[in-house]
Amino acid sequence: AIEIRDVHKWYGAHRVLDGIDLTVRPGEVTVIVGPSGSGKSTLLRVINHLEKPQIGHVSLNGELIGVRRHGERLKELSERAILAQRSRIGFVFQNFNLFPHLTVLENVAAAPVATGLLRKPEAQESARTLLGRVGLADKAGAYPRQLSGGQQQRVAIARALALRPGVILFDEPTSALDPELVGEVLAVIKDLATSGTTLVIVTHEIGFAREVADRVVFMDGGRILEQGPPEQVLDRPQHPRTQEFLSKVL
Ligand code: ATP
Ligand code: MG
Repeated sequence: AIEIRDVHKWYGAHRVLDGIDLTVRPGEVTVIVGPSGSGKSTLLRVINHLEKPQIGHVSLNGELIGVRRHGERLKELSERAILAQRSRIGFVFQNFNLFPHLTVLENVAAAPVATGLLRKPEAQESARTLLGRVGLADKAGAYPRQLSGGQQQRVAIARALALRPGVILFDEPTSALDPELVGEVLAVIKDLATSGTTLVIVTHEIGFAREVADRVVFMDGGRILEQGPPEQVLDRPQHPRTQEFLSKVL
């Protein structure tokens, strides 16, 4: 499970996360929705310690992320230890972030070799399997610029899977795509969701949220205003801010 406990994050006087508590159980799909600037991306970045909260902490399967207890206080782990933890948390970005100078196969096989999880031949075999899973077995030798946005994002998903992470975080994985390419990426994420991978997904695709989410979380102003099963939060929202947001995006 991911446990986010009383997380506060601010930049100067600007409170971006204002006391976030959230638990994501193993195998659960959590979809985070909310207006622009509500802190969704920051929350994902706090989970893998790309952002350090001033107050609060995150743990994955009982292990604190990025810090260790030092008496009453939390002390930062070494960069190396943080990188090792981060390799257990997959991250798929809005803009794919593939390595442009590496082939599709090399993009997927690179991290397991670099982290010592697999040797090169095994990593490449695993990468071929993963590319098959996202429907891109025939693109192994291509370079990212030769692919459509939807194909690049599916490579990014295969790359995230390559480290066999306990959880995968998605930050608006389809918002940079042309509308006709959104479906193929959502289909891959849906396949992961039904196969029991733990996922945390920030998206504006409300229909998709309704289909895949075990739990929908509505954020506004750095707080979670409402959370629950999709039919509750999306169809019978209780909070006026949730109602207002949904009336705009639906
Ligand atoms: P969007 O839907 O537009 O992606 P979001 O919910 O993901 O929005 P965040 O990116 O988490 O929102 O940003 C929350 C707030 O924190 C915004 O007001 C943003 O300007 C601010 N913020 C984020 N990162 C920084 C930073 N490094 N320095 C200062 N302010 C920041
Ligand atoms: Mg964002």
